[in-house]
Amino acid sequence: MTGFRRILLITALGIGAWLLLGGSCCCHEEDEAEIVGNPGSQVFHRRGCRYFSLSLDSQPFVSREEAVAAGYRPCGVCRP
Ligand SMILES: [Zn+2]
Repeated sequence: MTGFRRILLITALGIGAWLLLGGSCCCHEEDEAEIVGNPGSQVFHRRGCRYFSLSLDSQPFVSREEAVAAGYRPCGVCRP
């Protein structure tokens, strides 16, 4: 009986840690992937801008600083 309760406790702790790590990791990544560059025009937009259509050669950036460093200009409409 004691051994079974110990396994139960370890399993509960493991699931708790997994939810904690998985949750924070997921939200972080979604926030970071908002900038997308258009290699043709060398302009970067917020994802969902009406002046940007997502294509196969679109370039995702982690931040607007990274896009500027790559030689891209910010879109004047969505102001990324
Ligand atoms: Zn835009």
